[in-house]
Amino acid sequence: MTDTSVQLAILGGPQAVTQDPGDIFTWPIVTEEDEAAVLECLRAGGMSGTDITKEFEREYAQWHGMKYALGHNTGTAALQAAMWAVGVGRGDQIICPSLTYWATALPVFSLGGTMVFADIDPDTICIDPNDIEHRITDRTKAIVVVHYAGYPCDMDPIMAIAEKHGLKVIEDASHAHGGRYKGRLVGTIGHVTGMSCMSGKAFAIGEGGMLMTNDKEIFERALVWGHYARHRELDENSPQAPLSGLPWGGYKYRMHQLSSAMGRVQLRHYQSRLDEIQRAMNYFWDGLEGTPGLKAHRPAKGSGSHCGGWYIPRGLYRPEEIGGLHISKFVEAVQAEGCPTGAGANRPLHLHPVMNEVDVYGDGKPTRLVNQDEDIRQPLGSLPHTEAVGDRVIGVPWFKHYRPEIIDEYILAFRKVAENAAALL
Ligand SMILES: *Cc1c(COP(=O)(O)O)cnc(C)c1O
Repeated sequence: MTDTSVQLAILGGPQAVTQDPGDIFTWPIVTEEDEAAVLECLRAGGMSGTDITKEFEREYAQWHGMKYALGHNTGTAALQAAMWAVGVGRGDQIICPSLTYWATALPVFSLGGTMVFADIDPDTICIDPNDIEHRITDRTKAIVVVHYAGYPCDMDPIMAIAEKHGLKVIEDASHAHGGRYKGRLVGTIGHVTGMSCMSGKAFAIGEGGMLMTNDKEIFERALVWGHYARHRELDENSPQAPLSGLPWGGYKYRMHQLSSAMGRVQLRHYQSRLDEIQRAMNYFWDGLEGTPGLKAHRPAKGSGSHCGGWYIPRGLYRPEEIGGLHISKFVEAVQAEGCPTGAGANRPLHLHPVMNEVDVYGDGKPTRLVNQDEDIRQPLGSLPHTEAVGDRVIGVPWFKHYRPEIIDEYILAFRKVAENAAALL
């Protein structure tokens, strides 16, 4: 491997990254094929139709081997619909991680329910299956899991807990399209999945979300909730059928067809693009194997699990291996080498005022506590691994192409700083 003994760029040495990265970070990949599909829809005036969306849903479900996929205008909408569809309602609790984007949790407020946060496993940075069961109460209805930064949650124990207590599992697969858990695609394991397909995500189609399930009742409830124009798709014997025609939620969640048109094209290329991301990201982490202070955030090879499209890839920062160097100094030094990085990931949700103080609907108390018998708020100190993420998790470059000669420079940037950490203490 390249010589790491040269002086750090932050101390006046030469930068590790010297080459133009070209389009190695560009995402999504949009070609004339996407443009043609979008233009065709636009010219036909089909933006608010459902014909293209239904094709997209059929293909998306087929890819996963699932019975039902229902397009939504956002991932947030798909998750809210999923929560209602599994029966989350007034006074109910969901258990979910605090380390996530807010849409995993916050839609529960609109249903009159609330959230209880579980801590993460510090190595997977996904919800810790051992921190769930003791949080279950009479009010718990669902566990919402997130395959965080692409890493597949440990679904087997989570499904076992859910089954034991009669709970539903909602997968938020917004970070992990195409990821696998022990060989199975994420999004096919829980009772229902909601996921974002907005432009920043690994599967990116503009703004959009997808709900997936094998459960006809969950699918039909989601249809009733936010898709009034498609109620004729309800089975005539379904309990909702005679009560259909208006969206029960008072929400309109139809997917924009310029997005579904792009989605159909993206789908055709996703597996090969994902394979290249896998190759590139694994090359990056293989090159950093054994670097002090830094550990890959990826499932073990040969486990049948992997990180899918590696959305917002992270590494595990372990300062105790490099003299306790604070992450902020490490980050600054890696950036000085010309490599993008940053400390932490999403800010813990449980410490935000919306979870603790804000009375969204004028109930005279924080919305978090409405319809609850106890103060279930979780103050600073209650979720130690989640709270430590800002100090122990680090962003790494998200390579979309396998180009070793470019990636080598980014490997060098991290290695150089880690192996010369003493110079920064
Ligand atoms: C992006 C995201 C969402 C929300 O999706 P939108 O399409 O932006 O509404 C939900 N959950 C997670 C974990 C996300 O990252």
